Amino acid sequence: MSVISEILEYNQEFVKSKEYIQFFTDKYPSRHLAILSCMDARILDLLPRALGLKNGDAKLIKNAGAMVTHPWGSVMRSLLVAVFELQVNEIMVISHHDCGMRGLSAEEMLNKMRQAGISDERIETLRNAGIDLNSWLTGFERVEDSVRHSVEMIRKHPLMPDNIPVHGLVIHPTTGKLSMVVDGYQPNQKTHSKEAAQ
Ligand SMILES: [Zn+2]
Repeated sequence: MSVISEILEYNQEFVKSKEYIQFFTDKYPSRHLAILSCMDARILDLLPRALGLKNGDAKLIKNAGAMVTHPWGSVMRSLLVAVFELQVNEIMVISHHDCGMRGLSAEEMLNKMRQAGISDERIETLRNAGIDLNSWLTGFERVEDSVRHSVEMIRKHPLMPDNIPVHGLVIHPTTGKLSMVVDGYQPNQKTHSKEAAQ
């Protein structure tokens, strides 16, 4: 059976047996929290469990690497909507160890695209149109640096109010243990960073 058939079959039963009742909530997050995290499958359930979050507690935004790469992209827009429309007053950026975006190489990924049938010509056309594929497809070297960068992008965004604390954390994808990288209540202190511990 295909994945989609399995899911649709399960879903019918889920709705029929009213399993949804346990998830009742409204659109305003009861902990007034928005979290930007990674799409990694290991933290699909682990992340909310390890943080003690239940359905309705927080707005959860996910992408590859938990990265804010552009001030006017969909992540930043989602965070602003969360703050101004959905009563969020605290933000957490949570990346994780062993992330697929660490060390992601644009050249390797472009090669995989070529192997999948994307022509060199098409890639060149995009480059000639001014699309910087190399920086767009490059991940990060150190997860803590990436978290700090995303936190700064959010904190310094011209439309983000100064009174919204933005925390930066790293979660272990096996144990769920959190490490603080940026304390949003004291954003200029690097008290919890790896460098400070050394
Ligand atoms: Zn990841």
